[in-house]
Amino acid sequence: MLKNHYNTIIIGAGPAGLACALTLLENGVDDVLVAEKHEFPRDKCCAGYITRKTEKKYRRFGFDPADCGYSLIEDFGLYFRLKRRQRIENRFLFTSREINRVALDDAFFRLAKARGVNIAENMPITGHDPDNNTVTLGKTHVAGYDNLVFADGTMGFGSAYQRAKRRNLAMQCIFTSDRPDGIEIHFGVTRHGYCWVSTLRGVTNVGMTDEYREAREYKKIFENFLRELGLNADTSALYSAFTPIGIRKPVIGKNIFFAGDAMGACDPFTLSGISCGLDSGEKAALSITRSDTRIIERYAHRLGVKFTFMRLLMRIFYIPCVRWLVFNVGCRFLSGVVTFFFNRFLNKK
Ligand SMILES: Cc1cc2nc3c(=O)[nH]c(=O)nc-3n(C[C@H](O)[C@H](O)[C@H](O)COP(=O)(O)OP(=O)(O)OC[C@H]3O[C@@H](n4cnc5c(N)ncnc54)[C@H](O)[C@@H]3O)c2cc1C
Repeated sequence: MLKNHYNTIIIGAGPAGLACALTLLENGVDDVLVAEKHEFPRDKCCAGYITRKTEKKYRRFGFDPADCGYSLIEDFGLYFRLKRRQRIENRFLFTSREINRVALDDAFFRLAKARGVNIAENMPITGHDPDNNTVTLGKTHVAGYDNLVFADGTMGFGSAYQRAKRRNLAMQCIFTSDRPDGIEIHFGVTRHGYCWVSTLRGVTNVGMTDEYREAREYKKIFENFLRELGLNADTSALYSAFTPIGIRKPVIGKNIFFAGDAMGACDPFTLSGISCGLDSGEKAALSITRSDTRIIERYAHRLGVKFTFMRLLMRIFYIPCVRWLVFNVGCRFLSGVVTFFFNRFLNKK
């Protein structure tokens, strides 16, 4: 039963929305509604990789991803133009049994519910009146709020308040196969992105990401890639979604906040967004409980600087001659440095 007013309404029950709700609860704010448009377990277009750092963050909320069968796939290969250039002993990237995020999100959702977070499923936001601090939920229910948090992803309702032109397209396809366990990261298939092929115990996830350009025929590029790999997958199950490029406004006025992808909190290079979702949700909650919007603003600023650096790295890395040097010289003669970079630098994501 929905009430007519809440201290805080959070839109979206992904990692960002739930981290926000759990932090509010920890800080004594329990008049909270999380409005989620789907019913859990909900489908989610995401490979669901998490790093040790993300695992730690989940643990902070009393949740252990190992309970969802998360484990390390040791064999991690870097590929360029379909040729294996280097093997890295993976020490940072954890994968779920299904190589997607459905079970992870569902377990976090159940934990939040068990802790007393009030979540309304099948409850999309369909209207918003910022002048009167009200939202319309579902077809007709109008509810007032003191604080509103948009944690509804890159293209959610909250995105109407953001001027974000660039975004990444990410697509994936999951199927059974007899490939050996391993993670392959392929460069040179898309212009400003990469592909992945992960296999764990007979399940394979093939994905692709690239800076989105309307004119590009991504499905064709993806299908060609599958063919070149010798994989005969059914691409009617191909699933795609956008991820943000660049930080968006973390707060409008004094009481409308953005968290997770809705705030642009997803690394444009690695697509690592779960960890930033948890962090930004937490920061939005702390801004609310301490009545200090600078908490989320400072976090967004730091993240913006980091992402600008990542974008710069990307620009340099995607220059054809630089990529050639990385894979033909770096991977051959400086493989120790490449391994160090992956395990140290990316582990911090
Ligand atoms: C193909 C792909 C692979 C990826 N792989 C990884 C990876 O391996 N590791 C990683 O860390 N990140 C990955 N990402 C990024 C990651 O998925 C996102 O950064 C992360 O999900 C952001 O969390 P969030 O809580 O902000 O949004 P979401 O997880 O998208 O949650 C938003 C929620 O809002 C709900 N919602 C949307 N609109 C409405 C509405 N109108 N009303 C109510 N609710 C609404 C949605 O149903 C959803 O539950 C990947 C992304 C893609 C597309």
